[in-house]
Amino acid sequence: MALADITDRLRKAESDAGREPGSVELIAISKKQPNERVEAVLQEGHRVFGENRVQEAAGKWPMFRETYESVDLHLVGPLQTNKARQAMELCQAIHSLDRPKLAKTLARLAQELGSCPDLFVQVNTGEEDQKAGIWPAEADAFIKDARALDLSIRGVMCIPPVDEEAALHFALLAKIAERNGLTGLSMGMSGDFEKAVTFGATHVRVGSAIFGARPY
Ligand SMILES: *Cc1c(COP(=O)(O)O)cnc(C)c1O
Repeated sequence: MALADITDRLRKAESDAGREPGSVELIAISKKQPNERVEAVLQEGHRVFGENRVQEAAGKWPMFRETYESVDLHLVGPLQTNKARQAMELCQAIHSLDRPKLAKTLARLAQELGSCPDLFVQVNTGEEDQKAGIWPAEADAFIKDARALDLSIRGVMCIPPVDEEAALHFALLAKIAERNGLTGLSMGMSGDFEKAVTFGATHVRVGSAIFGARPY
């Protein structure tokens, strides 16, 4: 089965990179996947999943959680401020902290709720206009401002441009994390998660390689 296969490849990549076995979190990205495929992966015992839309996550995960305990849910897609509360109540991690207004909203809600998911600052390493994320040159200041709001930042995240060598983006993201004293690196997807591990990924986001191609 694909999950076992991907897990084996991840363990090998960890070992090749001299990393602790099991130290890289495998987030199974279940967006747009039919419920049967998600349930099959749950039945294999996997408990760490990711979604890119709050609404879609809210539509399926409360239901799955009635049957399967201790599901760790990660939001990896864009977050509108009016959905921030719902996202914080539903998810254990948010990988798409990408603008000051969202940081302010999350800070206010964290005070109010008395807790906050793990936060990853999304960095637009390819400086692509159509992509969300803080520009690399602004990342240090953004992280400093978020910390001044009392937000605890777990790490940084990137989605490299499709037509560029991902390694360059992974290396850049690792450098940004290091100079800001951050240990979390959310990078690597189906096509390049092993390479991401070489560059220090702590969280890989793998969808189609686990579930199959997303149906449209
Ligand atoms: C969909 C998605 C993934 C998974 O992509 P695959 O190529 O299916 O592995 C990873 N990260 C983000 C942010 C995504 O939106």
